Amino acid sequence: MILHPTYDINEAGHLTVAGLDAVELAKEFGTPAFLLDTDAVRAQCRLYRDAFRTYFGESSLPAFAGKALCYKGLYRLIAEEGLLADCVSPGEIFTAKAAGFPMEKVFFHGNNKTDADLRFALESGVGHIVADGEDELCALDRIAGEMGLKPHILLRITPGIDPHTHRKISTGNVDSKFGMAIATGQAQEFVRRALGYPNLTLDGFHCHVGSQIFDTEPFEDACDIMLSFMARVRADTGYEAEILNLGGGFGVRYTEEDPVVDYRDNIRRLGAEIDRMCALHGVKKPVIVMEPGRSVVAAAGCTLYTCGTVKTIPGFRSYVSVDGGMPDNPRYALYQSRYTVLNASRADADADFTCTVAGRCCESGDLIAEGVSLAKPVRGDVIAVLVTGAYNYSMASHYNRIPKPPVVELSGGSARVAVRRETYADLTAFDV
Ligand SMILES: *Cc1c(COP(=O)(O)O)cnc(C)c1O
Repeated sequence: MILHPTYDINEAGHLTVAGLDAVELAKEFGTPAFLLDTDAVRAQCRLYRDAFRTYFGESSLPAFAGKALCYKGLYRLIAEEGLLADCVSPGEIFTAKAAGFPMEKVFFHGNNKTDADLRFALESGVGHIVADGEDELCALDRIAGEMGLKPHILLRITPGIDPHTHRKISTGNVDSKFGMAIATGQAQEFVRRALGYPNLTLDGFHCHVGSQIFDTEPFEDACDIMLSFMARVRADTGYEAEILNLGGGFGVRYTEEDPVVDYRDNIRRLGAEIDRMCALHGVKKPVIVMEPGRSVVAAAGCTLYTCGTVKTIPGFRSYVSVDGGMPDNPRYALYQSRYTVLNASRADADADFTCTVAGRCCESGDLIAEGVSLAKPVRGDVIAVLVTGAYNYSMASHYNRIPKPPVVELSGGSARVAVRRETYADLTAFDV
């Protein structure tokens, strides 16, 4: 096993992904290619479902955040596993609907939903709209009235937690384009307004504190703040929230330096805190929803490339150039995200060649990783970047007119294309 159960090495010395030889997969499907171990995704969905039921309560469910990875086949899988879905655009809603995903299980997010977006969501039968601000409430009430509907909504609240600093920092997230802040008093006013609209049904509250969080403390702090807010809202208006949606954010192990995450134990600890805080603040325990994205799909996905140019600049560094890069993985360019890179063709050899892995774009910043060590590759070797299941395909672009790679699903020892590779003709399809 390398990092996660999905990855191993076979007798040929090749990397295996979900038990399949990565070098063979590269031959069959071409490179670059995204691979997704859907058995691992299903296992993660079941882990979340079971843990939520056990520790949050019978009606509590995880919602998969589609912004991490979005295509029809994945929505079918999420539906089969009984999860809810979090969509952030009409495009994601359209994809879910096209896959036959039950629309009443969808939460629709976004800090700037247009009137057309809201109308589209209502026409699609989306279960909950997460209202982000007062302008949106007003627009939604008007549109719902015109359509003769009374949609269920949650209000996005900013609890004021910066998960990457430390606990009880009550300014961090207040300055955000998302939601209404408790600290400024705007959240309380937001609730009063929401309760006053005739065409809206308020079901509860939503907050999201961040992403790639390894600790449970930020979530516990968010619960504390949200439950005490709910107690104040009840005292102020008599309104008792039924749903508390705590957003996404559980971390994922990308490299050996990242901790191993015990998701079940995190949920157990959070569940115990929720029970304690409900008693403390004297509020009825709400249905808990969370929206994991990264932690459902990241570890199950990897990207295969073919090595091209290998060059060493004496006194500086070595570059390994691959046939993809920032168009399929912009995360290093965007956030200096760290990845585990392997020479899949020589996965059993010493990883003693320290290099920078670069993409093929006309852009010096088009890098996948710097200072990583792998078995020295030669032109034609298969290079694998592990743990790319989240925020890679979904963030892919056509920069430099590079077609998007396919998504290949691996399950039960076989592989099938779930999203086909784009062609050059696809690239010019919209040019009139
Ligand atoms: C990004 C986001 C998520 C998913 O976060 P992960 O870190 O991928 O789990 C869930 N909900 C909201 C509102 C988000 O913005």
